[in-house]
Amino acid sequence: MGILEIKDLHVSVTDDETQHAKEILKGVNLTIKTGEIHAIMGPNGTGKSTLSETIMGAAAYQVTQGDILLNGESIVNMPVDERARKGLFLGMQYPAEIQGVTNAEFLRAAMNARRLEDDQISVMNFLKELDKNLDLLDMSEEMTERYLNEGFSGGEKKRNEILQLMMIKPSFALLDEIDSGLDIDALKVVSKGVNAMRGDNFGSLIITHYQRLLNYIVPDVVHIMMDGKIVKTGNAELAKTLEVEGYAGLRDDLDLDV
Ligand code: ADP
Ligand code: MG
Ligand code: MG
Repeated sequence: MGILEIKDLHVSVTDDETQHAKEILKGVNLTIKTGEIHAIMGPNGTGKSTLSETIMGAAAYQVTQGDILLNGESIVNMPVDERARKGLFLGMQYPAEIQGVTNAEFLRAAMNARRLEDDQISVMNFLKELDKNLDLLDMSEEMTERYLNEGFSGGEKKRNEILQLMMIKPSFALLDEIDSGLDIDALKVVSKGVNAMRGDNFGSLIITHYQRLLNYIVPDVVHIMMDGKIVKTGNAELAKTLEVEGYAGLRDDLDLDV
């Protein structure tokens, strides 16, 4: 059983031009256990990506208050690669293109980075696992022999991101706007991959602007974020209400001044 706890998290970024620090997250509380899928929805510019980037440890985001605990241990001062080794995964965390490294080489290195030295995955087992997941994601083997993300279309990048997820098997996956720019067929494939990961050893935070994705990946918990705070939490029905009422309706309901 794993647990990811966000406690009263305040995060600032420094504006490059003015050098002034601006507070983006203003006290976020969130607990995700393995076995659960949570969704965060919210208007643009509200801090959703800031939250996922901060959990993963991107340098631009300064934690000014609060804490992030992974299985009881504070990770706020850990470098990104250590967080990854401990079981966190952020979609789109990798550079757009890595020259000279094939997708397959990258995948095996990333899987082995999470394993002990005497437990590295054999080429045979790697290929077996790769084959299985390529099948499920309706991806061609040729994709894995190409250099990482080089010349991948938007849809191929997303599929590849889910392939990474399925191969690396993190305990917690932060998936930021995995639905953006996908046609309905690609959306179904991507959702199939995430749903295949569901289980006692996997938890996920799915960030999306639209409800559509949540028809395919039905979340256990839905949070609405506005102006750097979670303003409402509910079940999958909350996302549907939001689709009908819109964020403006929710603002009125909650009597929010944002
Ligand atoms: P969302 O994902 O909900 O659309 P973001 O977390 O991307 O929102 O952005 C929230 C706010 O923080 C925006 O005003 C954005 O301009 C600002 N912001 C995010 N990242 C940075 C950064 N690295 N530097 C400066 N401002 C940033
Ligand atoms: Mg965002
Ligand atoms: Mg904000």
